[in-house]
Amino acid sequence: MSGVRISLDQGRCIGAGQCALTAPQVFTQDDDGMGEVLPGREDGHGSPLVREAARACPVSAITVAED
Ligand code: SF4
Repeated sequence: MSGVRISLDQGRCIGAGQCALTAPQVFTQDDDGMGEVLPGREDGHGSPLVREAARACPVSAITVAED
């Protein structure tokens, strides 16, 4: 089965929270409000919303690569 591999560049993230709002199964925000991928969810957890979240990020901090 093909999957994806998600990476989130926290150095680029501005804490807008769009990722966690769009795909809460995969993204969350840390204590400082920065986006992060939930532990073990780097494979996207089968969520079609992952690409939507990547598009929604205003600074393009999220990369979705085919695995
Ligand atoms: S949408 Fe982008 S800028 Fe906003 S919290 Fe997520 S990664 Fe950071």
